[in-house]
Amino acid sequence: MKREYISPERHKFYHSKAWLKCRRAYGDSRNWICERCGDAAAQVHHRVYLTDANLRDPDVALNWDNLELLCDVCHAQEHHGGGFQTADGLRFDANGDLIEAPRDKPENKAP
Ligand SMILES: [Zn+2]
Ligand SMILES: [Zn+2]
Repeated sequence: MKREYISPERHKFYHSKAWLKCRRAYGDSRNWICERCGDAAAQVHHRVYLTDANLRDPDVALNWDNLELLCDVCHAQEHHGGGFQTADGLRFDANGDLIEAPRDKPENKAP
């Protein structure tokens, strides 16, 4: 599995007030229910994946039409077809704080 590099730009974005406010409002609007499986969700996913090139574009980075509320499982499936960590190796804990997800856990590898 290829590890993705988190650029300082993307790291900064994920800590920005604009994004934290956006993801909270979006999650609230969906009652923090996964849009794919109906489970409790904590991941606000970008349908068009964020890159250094588009993260300053609000039409991509902060556009609700580009967001999808997912649980950890569906989010991992979206990015890896299984496995645990997000594409960024990042997830949000229950407090909405950004944390590094455990990487390359053998027991979580897709068969
Ligand atoms: Zn789900
Ligand atoms: Zn995602």
